[in-house]
This record gives sequence, C-alpha cells and structure tokens, in this order.
Amino acid sequence: MNFENYQRILDELKPYSAQLIAVSKTKPQHAILELYNHGQRHFGENKVQEMVAKQAQLPYDIQWHLIGHLQSNKVKYVAPFVTMIHSVDSLKLLQEIDRQAQKNNRVIDCLLQIHIAREETKYGLAPDELHQILNTGEIGLLQNIRICGFMGMATLTHNQSLIEDEFAGLKTLFDEIKEKYFEPVSYFRHLSMGMSSDYPIALRHGATFVRVGSLLFGDRG
Ligand SMILES: *Cc1c(COP(=O)(O)O)cnc(C)c1O
Repeated sequence: MNFENYQRILDELKPYSAQLIAVSKTKPQHAILELYNHGQRHFGENKVQEMVAKQAQLPYDIQWHLIGHLQSNKVKYVAPFVTMIHSVDSLKLLQEIDRQAQKNNRVIDCLLQIHIAREETKYGLAPDELHQILNTGEIGLLQNIRICGFMGMATLTHNQSLIEDEFAGLKTLFDEIKEKYFEPVSYFRHLSMGMSSDYPIALRHGATFVRVGSLLFGDRG
C-alpha cells in the first residue's frame, strides 16, 4: 500500500472537489482494509464475483463501484448493495438494472460508458448509440435507476495531447447531453474518467470521479 501516493492524490483532488475511487481489483481484502482504516470508503471492482465476495467480508459502509463490463444476467448479484455502476452500455442492461433495483427496493445510480478511445477493444457507447437510447423515451419509464453521468477510458498511450482531446471531448458531450436531456435533474453531474496514468489530465477536464488502482496498491503484474 502506498500511503504517500494516497495522500498526494487526495490533495490533488481537493481543489476539484473530485472523489477518489480506489480500484482494488485482484487485491486481497487486507489491502482494502488498510486503506479503509485510513478513511477511504469508495472502492472499485471490475468483476461481479470478486466484488460480491469482498463486499460480504468487508465493512458494510464501504461504497462499491462496479467499473468493469457487466452482463445482464449478473446484475442480480450486485443489485442489493452496489453504490454505482459505471459501465452501462445498453438500454437492455439499464432495464435489467432497473428491474433488479426494484426487487431490492432501491434506486441504483448508473453512469453510461462512452467510447472515447482510439482502440477498438474498449467497451462503451458511440455518441450515435447514446442519442438513440436517450431518444427512445424508454428511460423515462425506469423508476429505479438514475443516470448520473458518463464514464470513459482514454487510449492507453504516452501521447498526452490525444488523452487530453479524448477527455475534453467527453466533457463536451456531457455538457451537451446534460442540457438536452437532463437539465431539470441535479443528479446528472458525474464524469468518471482518469486512472493512475492519466488522472491529472482528467481532473483538468472535469472529472468528478477518478479510478486509481496501481498507484495505491502497486502493479497487478
Ligand atoms: C483497472 C481499472 C482502473 C485502474 O487502473 P490503474 O491503472 O491501476 O489505476 C480504472 N478503471 C477501470 C475501468 C479499470 O478496469
């Protein structure tokens, strides 16, 4: 556990009022507890099974963020406790999250994952798919989810200006969509972007959540 990095990142986030999500995927429970004991409450996992297992063993006031790709048939496992799902990339998935949230008597906060990277392998909605989903009117029928903003992952590159362009583009899209579809609601206000390698750039472009793993927990090998 790198507490120097932890403190430095918290100091860097402060002027932006952004929140740190400590990405604990593949890391053991004791590592999570160490950070928890330093006051960290938001943790991110990318696999359903791993998150469910950790949630059952660790303190109940941990806020769990699902940041990895989610299959509809696995929503039921996280619906009882998840704080936010960052990786929503279809209407079908939203509908299933709504259904499972209703069963659990909850409202689940979601982010739509937008494809901003040059790589083709990354998940996420293209802007035209996003408009398609928002234009159907179906979303208005979903009473047990809230769309709270967007998540995006920049291209894995040393080209800083490319990363800069991708985050800036996501912020522009966020502002457009907020104005067009979400102006009356206060909860559409989150941009989840930035990881260990690029979170300072993301902060400059309006990130409200940064998802940092290896700078805190060390390399995953
Ligand atoms: C693993 C992961 C991160 C954290 O990556 P680091 O480079 O370790 O900071 C952030 N977001 C997502 C979606 C991830 O899967």
